[in-house]
Amino acid sequence: MNLKQKMFIQFMIKNGAATTDQALSFCQDSVENFVELKLFIHEINREISKQNFKIGLTTCEVSNQDFVLWLNTKNDDVSKLQITYSTIELEYFHVLMQEILISEHRRITYATALNITSSLTSNFTRTNGQTVLKKWFAGQYFIKENSYVYLGSRLITEFTTYLKIQSPDQICKLCSELVFKGRICASCDSINHSYCLDKYLERQNNCPSCSEEWTEKDDGSLYTQNTVVTQESAESNDEDGDEEQGRPVRKNRSASQRK
Ligand SMILES: [Zn+2]
Ligand SMILES: [Zn+2]
Repeated sequence: MNLKQKMFIQFMIKNGAATTDQALSFCQDSVENFVELKLFIHEINREISKQNFKIGLTTCEVSNQDFVLWLNTKNDDVSKLQITYSTIELEYFHVLMQEILISEHRRITYATALNITSSLTSNFTRTNGQTVLKKWFAGQYFIKENSYVYLGSRLITEFTTYLKIQSPDQICKLCSELVFKGRICASCDSINHSYCLDKYLERQNNCPSCSEEWTEKDDGSLYTQNTVVTQESAESNDEDGDEEQGRPVRKNRSASQRK
């Protein structure tokens, strides 16, 4: 492995996630465009796959932004985050993930995410929650848009096998990958990535699953489907969440309920 590849690995380990623009500007001496970046990453992946690491390229379905991710491909549960996070942080991570998975629209409010801190098995303050959430937003484990928290592209990519077992219905009909935000057909309830559907609807106007004319199911969101909010602006406003929107968190939940 050459020095430039090693430096890029260090950059990815340090940041966990970077936009493709950030990655391109970091290795501008070695690559000039996205195609070259893909090749550069492909060569690195050949070297690091034996150590169960991978650099992945993905589009975030919430922000529609392209990301380069540092991925741990070893086993498929939260334990792989053990080196980086404390036991209580991992418990918080797991409960957040489960709450989002069981919620109707696969998202919880930021206020709910903070309220969950009081239901954990040992002392973990809201401030602790805010601090670690900030890291998880930056690392793309979770993503905050408006006042909602969604599963991030890094979490979805690292825990794909686990999530496909947990949520077998959350599969995009167009690319067969996991989809959590998505857009739902009003006729047949099938779900598709927003970016997959946009490409598809450029060519036709029927649902890819039921062939009825595409009509979108209203997901009950306060925001329109086309609201584009950058992560930065979502991050800067509403730091403490909308308290009144957060539903009370069940206390004293048994361990089995969290599984
Ligand atoms: Zn898709
Ligand atoms: Zn349909």
